[in-house]
Amino acid sequence: MEFSSMLLNNAPFLSDDHSACSGQDEPHERYFGAVSAPIIQTSLFVQKNYQTYCDDMQHEAERFIYSRGLNPTVQIVEQKLAKLERGEACRCFASGMGAISAVLMANLNSHDHIILVNNVYGPAMALIKQMARKYEVQYDVVLDGTPEAIAHHIRPNTRLIYTESPGTMTMNIVDLAAIATLAKEHGITTVIDNTWATPLFQKPLTLGFDIVIHSCTKYLGGHSDLIAGAVITSHQRMAEIRDFSHQLLGSVLSPFAAWLLLRGLRTLPVRMQRHQENVLQVIEYLKTLPEVENIRHPCMADVPQQAIIRKQMSGFSGLFSFEIRDGRFADVKRFIDSCRLFKVGCSWGGYESLIISPNRGYNEAALATDNIATGLIRLSIGQESPSLLIADLAGAFAALAKR
Ligand SMILES: *Cc1c(COP(=O)(O)O)cnc(C)c1O
Repeated sequence: MEFSSMLLNNAPFLSDDHSACSGQDEPHERYFGAVSAPIIQTSLFVQKNYQTYCDDMQHEAERFIYSRGLNPTVQIVEQKLAKLERGEACRCFASGMGAISAVLMANLNSHDHIILVNNVYGPAMALIKQMARKYEVQYDVVLDGTPEAIAHHIRPNTRLIYTESPGTMTMNIVDLAAIATLAKEHGITTVIDNTWATPLFQKPLTLGFDIVIHSCTKYLGGHSDLIAGAVITSHQRMAEIRDFSHQLLGSVLSPFAAWLLLRGLRTLPVRMQRHQENVLQVIEYLKTLPEVENIRHPCMADVPQQAIIRKQMSGFSGLFSFEIRDGRFADVKRFIDSCRLFKVGCSWGGYESLIISPNRGYNEAALATDNIATGLIRLSIGQESPSLLIADLAGAFAALAKR
């Protein structure tokens, strides 16, 4: 049996995950039995008397005082995400970058060192470079994510190991349990951006990671209609992130965005199942084409990588890339512009299938230093019928053949 179908057969989501995604555990009785949680659209909560106010101010983290701190609608989502990731605490942010910057600002002092493992989301990398310039934070990028390669870069002042697995351009995988073990030996905090896999397919806290970040803008929201981020970790680690980066940097989630996210979470398991089925069919098609090389998706992993995937993942999402053989900017442009169903767009995780390339014509040299082929095309496989998606790609390959 093929590797991809083995995982697929293994993929029924845990019942705990179903209940966290659904409304099952929500406190309906507090909201007149409403099955859909209310949007508590308020900035502040008035107190019974001044003494209550004074008492509450000593428990800002867990009481409803002011919506930059805690809001009931936002709290419902936070509890669900914490449960899905098997973490003690979750805080939501106004964006994925809000969550990333909160974690980095809370955990790095000037002159501290961070190791970035695997290809990391571009704006996260740009933020690290800003922190290096402004606060003398030191960093190393380790594309070969083996524990041996990472160990080689550990310094006495290394505070964080930050990774994405799978990455979201090359979809490379790293061994999360092995990295967590290495980091613990050196007292280093581990952080993963788990956006690609979603908590349904990968739970890094159970593999020893310390902090999980999500851009909820992608699959968790799932409808391309909100921007949100989340951090899930222990109570202890969250205390510092909350007091400093959540409260003081202030990029908190609005109640309405939280409500949209709750609505998206309801269908997360069915949507992820569909993304997975669709992507596997599209990849089966691409595998037959001579003009396609290096299909980058975990279902295409070689045998050693398959062993890692089996340890840490239970399924696949729909974001992947492949290379047009000998493709340069002109080919990439022709291919993308020949698609009709695939829309040109940089985000992913919604209903609609999307296509882009990291090759923007003026940056081919920079791509080479990042080890990214000039003919790379990234697809986000959405919820449309797979036969329509394949027909659309076939049309684009036909246009390419005429070059
Ligand atoms: C989109 C994305 C982010 C940033 O999320 P925003 O909600 O856009 O701020 C972070 N990491 C990954 C992997 C992403 O794809």
